Amino acid sequence: MRELAWNRYPDMHAETVCELLARFQEWPAKGVVVAPGSNFLVLALALAANRVLDTVPSFAFYEGAARLAGTPFEAVPLGADFSLPAEALLGRMSGTPGVLFLAVPHAPTGALFPEAEVRRLAARAAETGFLLAVDEAYFQFSGTDHRALARENSSVVLLRTFSKAFGLGGIRAGYLLAAPEVAGRLQAMLPPFNLPVHTAAVLETVLGEPARASEAAARIVRERDRMVTALERHPTWKVHPSRANFFLVRTPDAEAAFAGLRAAGVLVRRQDHLPGLRGCLRVSVGTPAENDAFLGAALGLR
Ligand SMILES: *Cc1c(COP(=O)(O)O)cnc(C)c1O
Repeated sequence: MRELAWNRYPDMHAETVCELLARFQEWPAKGVVVAPGSNFLVLALALAANRVLDTVPSFAFYEGAARLAGTPFEAVPLGADFSLPAEALLGRMSGTPGVLFLAVPHAPTGALFPEAEVRRLAARAAETGFLLAVDEAYFQFSGTDHRALARENSSVVLLRTFSKAFGLGGIRAGYLLAAPEVAGRLQAMLPPFNLPVHTAAVLETVLGEPARASEAAARIVRERDRMVTALERHPTWKVHPSRANFFLVRTPDAEAAFAGLRAAGVLVRRQDHLPGLRGCLRVSVGTPAENDAFLGAALGLR
């Protein structure tokens, strides 16, 4: 940090970090776009698109980005047990082309959609001029990887972030993997010099030790599974299976459950305002001590 040229502008398009990511991800460097958080890449996609298609419930910023970009937005409800509404999405993927955002694993449900269904959407995108943006914010926790699909099909772009498995939410960094011509179009939607020198320096350091993210993800997955198993004993709460670093729990009364946890010093996220999520709280997996505090409080609530 001390040696950085703080008075100089950084790379125009984070070229050094793109090269490193390209090597780390076995992807052409011209197909990598880096931004200060993958949320900026979501915004770039919304700016580039004529329509934004989403599921509901979903990661809130897909809709937020569409609103900021002034791009028409539509969302299709998830099926039973948070399944992918593939038929309804395929039906919407005609006419004016746009971008379909699909977090895999999905947020805020934690559900993992079957690869075959994602492939059907990707094939449809290629036929109709859509882009399928697979948001892999949680892929290290699910052990899934859509690079093979994105290599075969240039209508698929992948979004990834340093905010989750890398534990670097504070530095603000995310990236997009796409076919070089698609990446070039999206790069043009972002201002130049958007990755600060200090963020780039942190990325250059952590990319030298890629095993750290997978080790951290493995620890979190073990803790998640321990928490989910412990909650099976709960008399009224029902946990939804998750492949991410959080899970949803359905309670008889989200307001009371939230207040009870909060009184015990545990903060979770209410999600009961979202369609299909009545009574639901989202619990992020924390340190073993934090998770014990959560379980101690949760098992005492009704
Ligand atoms: C956390 C998260 C992101 C990451 O956003 P950043 O701007 O990179 O921090 C993107 N998509 C989803 C679904 C997320 O949960």
